[in-house]
Amino acid sequence: MTENNLIDDLENDDDLEDDDQEGSPDSRSSRGRSRGAAPRGRRYRRVKICNFCVDRVESIDYKDIDTLNRYVSNRGKILPRRQTGACAKHQRAVANAVKRARHVALLPFSGKHTLD
Ligand SMILES: [Zn+2]
Repeated sequence: MTENNLIDDLENDDDLEDDDQEGSPDSRSSRGRSRGAAPRGRRYRRVKICNFCVDRVESIDYKDIDTLNRYVSNRGKILPRRQTGACAKHQRAVANAVKRARHVALLPFSGKHTLD
């Protein structure tokens, strides 16, 4: 679960700012404009390096659930490239591997279902 936490942190980091301002109705109308026109400085692009390129991975195994889990949200969705930092080639490979893993029931299609 440690690797999942790492990705959760990234997710929350992006949304933090917006949630604070959601409360007041006035800020909502100006929000769309201010986002594009006035950068607040906090939004810098973090340099991310593709983990697969670092390890020189050629093909991603759909049975390797431990690595695939790092590229899937806790709701079972494939994480976007801006969060995973994977390059286009490897993100595509990950997406294919996740879909294969789902098909053979190694990964879930959706979040947990509870009976009650
Ligand atoms: Zn790569």
